[in-house]
Amino acid sequence: MKLLTFKGGIHPPYKKEYSEKKAIEIAKSPKVVYIPLQQHIGAPAKEIVKVGDLVKVGQKIGEQQGFVSCNVHSSVSGKVIAIKEHELAGGRGTCIVIENDFKEQIHESIKPKGNLEDLSKEEIVSIIKEAGIVGMGGATFPTHVKLSPPPDKKIDTVILNGAECEPYLTADHRLMLENPEDVVYGLKVLMKSLNVSKGYIGIEVNKPDAISAIEKEAQKYDDIEVVGLEVKYPQGAEKQLIYACTKREVPSGGLPMDAGAVVNNVGTAAQIAKTIKTGMPLIERITTVTGSCINEPKNLVTKVGTLVSEIIDQCGGFKEDKIVGKVIMGGPMMGLAQYTIDIPTNKGTSGILCLDDEESKTPKPQNCLRCGKCLTVCPAFLQPLYISAYSLKNDFESAERYRALDCIECGSCSFVCPARRPLLQSVRNAKREIISNRRKESAKK
Ligand code: SF4
Ligand code: SF4
Repeated sequence: MKLLTFKGGIHPPYKKEYSEKKAIEIAKSPKVVYIPLQQHIGAPAKEIVKVGDLVKVGQKIGEQQGFVSCNVHSSVSGKVIAIKEHELAGGRGTCIVIENDFKEQIHESIKPKGNLEDLSKEEIVSIIKEAGIVGMGGATFPTHVKLSPPPDKKIDTVILNGAECEPYLTADHRLMLENPEDVVYGLKVLMKSLNVSKGYIGIEVNKPDAISAIEKEAQKYDDIEVVGLEVKYPQGAEKQLIYACTKREVPSGGLPMDAGAVVNNVGTAAQIAKTIKTGMPLIERITTVTGSCINEPKNLVTKVGTLVSEIIDQCGGFKEDKIVGKVIMGGPMMGLAQYTIDIPTNKGTSGILCLDDEESKTPKPQNCLRCGKCLTVCPAFLQPLYISAYSLKNDFESAERYRALDCIECGSCSFVCPARRPLLQSVRNAKREIISNRRKESAKK
């Protein structure tokens, strides 16, 4: 097997040992779910149910608004008891609150979609769109949009991301090990939807059991190649994965389709397979619950809309001898720290990471030492020290000249900086300001 990688990157402590050997379990169904209308990149869905309505599992309860948006479905059967604002992982937003009747009644619309051979490209994209499927690695970009490239973009490669390079997270690892059939079938669906004859599945070589499970399944097809990836962060980032698999570079400011590739997470592929085979939309996902403060780390299939506090309880709660410092939705590098655990999970909740107070401390930043380490590791070949310095001086024009918008927000620069400079935060802030200024400029025209 070839061992592929990209230029730059870091080797953080992986800490996968908490949960990598834990087989996937189904979480208990919650009494109440809080299903956000915004669980994806793009416009929020619009509710199509009202308080008092009875709903079933898989029933559409939120309709996508515009092309870059997603449908939302009920993860339980029961009664809509409120449609209201609630705390979410990234701020506040509207949720459809459903009281579970525990009857698990499946909605009448949920039916298998037929044989893949009989489905056209257009039908596949329409099924994925209707099912509200998003990038399940955490990015939550609507999958039907990725599968609808403009006619002038020639796509010849589909890549599945099985790197799971974020420390602590093991949901994708367990999925590949326990359900390789759906992962590979999902890739075949994606390849057909894009009329592509070459598929790759990239997996970091610290998961040899997953590689052999996926290889065994992929052997059935001569157009799928399983590639072993060097263990390095951010190996699973789209541009870095495309380079590792194809040696093609996505141009500055460009998208994967500019390199002829579409990248999806292995979890997304498995969900696509499930939707084609059973008709069930995206209403649940595997979430790794992990970290030093959790009594029983697990890989749990959780229904979208379950409160994080309930999931933590199902994992034995917090350890009594630990002081919880941070609860992060996602992994430690790209996840978001939360100030409450009374927030619901969503389609992108790959992990719930609970760190103690020692692990959560943020050291005081010192002056830049001009050591150049941040330049060496940046996988986007940026100069984080300069972008950060301009950002901190509110000189966003200069930050833009230094290609701040090409930052993939991986946090590698902050991780290696011996002066503990807040590089990621300041580069991220520069990106936000540049995009906001561009919007203001185009509104004036
Ligand atoms: S500048 Fe952006 S892409 Fe480069 S290392 Fe820092 S966070 Fe990652
Ligand atoms: S790694 Fe930190 S100290 Fe070194 S050059 Fe970059 S910002 Fe300066």
